[in-house]
Amino acid sequence: MLECVGELIPTPERDRRTQRYLLQGHIPVWDIVPDDTLRNAAGDVFYLDFTMFGNVSRFINHSCSPNLKVLCVLDNSRIVYYANEEIGSGVELTCDYNYHRVDHPEQVFICYCQSQQCDKALL
Ligand SMILES: [Zn+2]
Repeated sequence: MLECVGELIPTPERDRRTQRYLLQGHIPVWDIVPDDTLRNAAGDVFYLDFTMFGNVSRFINHSCSPNLKVLCVLDNSRIVYYANEEIGSGVELTCDYNYHRVDHPEQVFICYCQSQQCDKALL
């Protein structure tokens, strides 16, 4: 449906950027790259950071019941959103930002997605 464009960064860099973005008043926006083959020598998982730049995919909002999923394609060199379900005309496209509360217990961002499965907090 749509390619995700952003910076591919490992977990330690994601953690550094999270603190920096929060201090600057930005809500960090990224997806975990859903493929275990994309790990560096330290075994870090990679994230796609679209907080500061990327393509139109960075404007897709979070939902606790997303209608898009993330998929690695073309030998894991590209990351795309694909439809998780049939999506009608005029329906907002949403994805799961994959925030993990345990990573940053001091931060709380309220989720307003209004789905029945809403966790009520992004982070
Ligand atoms: Zn929600």
